[in-house]
Amino acid sequence: TDSGGFQVFSLAQLRKIKEEGVYFASHIDGRRIFMGPEESMQIQSNLGSTIAMAFDECIENPSPYKYVAASIERTTRWLIRCQEEMARLNSLPDTINKHQMLFGINQGSTFDDLRIKHMEDIAKLDLDGYAIGGLAVGEATEEMYRIIDVVEPYMPVHKPRYLMGVGTPSNIIEAVARGVDMFDCVMPSRNARHATVFTWSGIMHLGNKCYETDPRPVDEQCDCPTCRNFSRAYIRHLFKANEQLAGRLAVQHNLYFYNTLTEKIREAIDEDRFEQFRGKYSQLLATRI
Ligand SMILES: [Zn+2]
Repeated sequence: TDSGGFQVFSLAQLRKIKEEGVYFASHIDGRRIFMGPEESMQIQSNLGSTIAMAFDECIENPSPYKYVAASIERTTRWLIRCQEEMARLNSLPDTINKHQMLFGINQGSTFDDLRIKHMEDIAKLDLDGYAIGGLAVGEATEEMYRIIDVVEPYMPVHKPRYLMGVGTPSNIIEAVARGVDMFDCVMPSRNARHATVFTWSGIMHLGNKCYETDPRPVDEQCDCPTCRNFSRAYIRHLFKANEQLAGRLAVQHNLYFYNTLTEKIREAIDEDRFEQFRGKYSQLLATRI
């Protein structure tokens, strides 16, 4: 489960950041809501997820250096409060998942020295895993890769590394090449709802006229239920008719594709041929067809 930090900072109106946490307005009725590290840990403990994320300040890119420097210090203080609250919650008799894990989140915008300093500070806390946050929020893809390269050497080698909010199939391959283990992203489902599907030949837009009478499946190499049962022409027709089934079929394909992609990445790593896999697919999967 996510901490709500990203949502508060990217979506909420009228927010005010203080040492204790964040005050913001409800998007439903404008009511003032407070969320701090303890509130976030309590909610995630109630949800009983396997991994809870620390409550951090997600800074927009670009931001002034002085602001970012002060913000990462506060995010570290909030992380310590998260860790203490998580330990307290996990020790209570009625807690749903007493083995809930806590991941810390690296911030520091696009400043190399701040990224490194923050990673060094949070690595000392011996958490269950470490995430890189505050990326994929508008900066160029090359800048994102550069920051992963900068911060990765400071991430504990024996803990899972998680890149938050990323990304395209190509982004995932490139981040794995730089040492990342885990991802989350709306992309496979959101893009599918807008008729964009990922395939082993590249990215397709099913709304295009060329698929109007195309009897082939979305991806001839895919064995998901959508590809086994429906044609490009039929799914395109459903999109054109604003039929909800169109989005469901496309989402099903994209999620299956992402699962297969990460499965193939793991196999390639196990068989010591990841660089070959990367060379074959990193560019190809980003091609628009
Ligand atoms: Zn499929």
